[in-house]
Amino acid sequence: MSEPVILLDRLSKAYGDVLAVDTLSLEIEAGTIFGFLGANGAGKTTTIRMLCGLVKPTGGRGLISGRDIWSERQAVRSKFGYVAQRFSLYRDLTVEENLQFFGGAFRVARAERSARIPRLLKLVDLESKRDARAGSLSGGMRQLLALACALIHDPPLLFLDEPTSGLDPVHRQQMWNLLYDLSNRGITVFVTTHYMDEAERCTQVGFINRGRLLATASPRALKESFNTKLLEIDVDPTMPALVQLRQDADVLGVSLRSGSLRLYAPEPEKLIARWREHWPFGGIQWKGERLVEADMEDVFTAYSEGYDAMLKPLAP
Ligand code: ATP
Repeated sequence: MSEPVILLDRLSKAYGDVLAVDTLSLEIEAGTIFGFLGANGAGKTTTIRMLCGLVKPTGGRGLISGRDIWSERQAVRSKFGYVAQRFSLYRDLTVEENLQFFGGAFRVARAERSARIPRLLKLVDLESKRDARAGSLSGGMRQLLALACALIHDPPLLFLDEPTSGLDPVHRQQMWNLLYDLSNRGITVFVTTHYMDEAERCTQVGFINRGRLLATASPRALKESFNTKLLEIDVDPTMPALVQLRQDADVLGVSLRSGSLRLYAPEPEKLIARWREHWPFGGIQWKGERLVEADMEDVFTAYSEGYDAMLKPLAP
């Protein structure tokens, strides 16, 4: 097997008492679209900033293409592009001037810059905005320009920190189409997101919670790591039922999905049988039920809430 593009070995970062990233070990192969998922404050940005050599790890180590992310950070810098969460484009410069500026900062030769800029503008569909000031662009367009600037030195690896946050569905799709396009060209993509549907679009997903990596695998493997289907029931009235069903000893958790209640229970068939014999929730009408496959939101819930009784160990 070839050397992983990213190799993290117990990488850690503490801010005082807060362990923002806790012994994170991970391998990412070339060409992967790696989705890094976690709630606010889970440690995603800190991980990316360590990978980019912007924050010094307090423990463990990380390698990008075999080179240390901290002690060799100058050499590693040319190997990746980084689209930060709050990217500071130069608002008073035009779209093209921003690209020229970042090209210069990455020491891309002038002739090479002149060849790449039209290609990048076409890629992100900003050709008509070439002479517009960055400050006049919409949020979505600014994100796309930030992506183009991160690609100006033709890096084999791209880090994106919540690139679709705040984007409308059309721009969100456009951003993902671009990421597929880049992946297709062999670029490894490391992207953080809060959106579960975006996790489905990745080839590998990692869940982080309070600094700890809970699981990493393909979306399919993660969904198949449930050892049971999930029980969805229709009840009336719904909200009081949600509160009451959570109290049942055989129910680990309940969530609302499109008007139905989705139950996290290790043995849903037994639960149905027991409730058929005796339905303990007075004032609540049970109208129907079905068993459904887990989706990524269920995966995230199960791993972050620690519903181990429902999960099989992931294949190594
Ligand atoms: P979000 O989705 O909100 O961007 P995140 O997963 O990127 O969150 P981080 O920004 O990495 O999370 O933060 C992880 C933890 O580290 C949080 O508890 C945060 O408060 C803390 N933290 C991050 N940066 C610093 C800092 N410079 N000084 C002190 N604590 C910090």
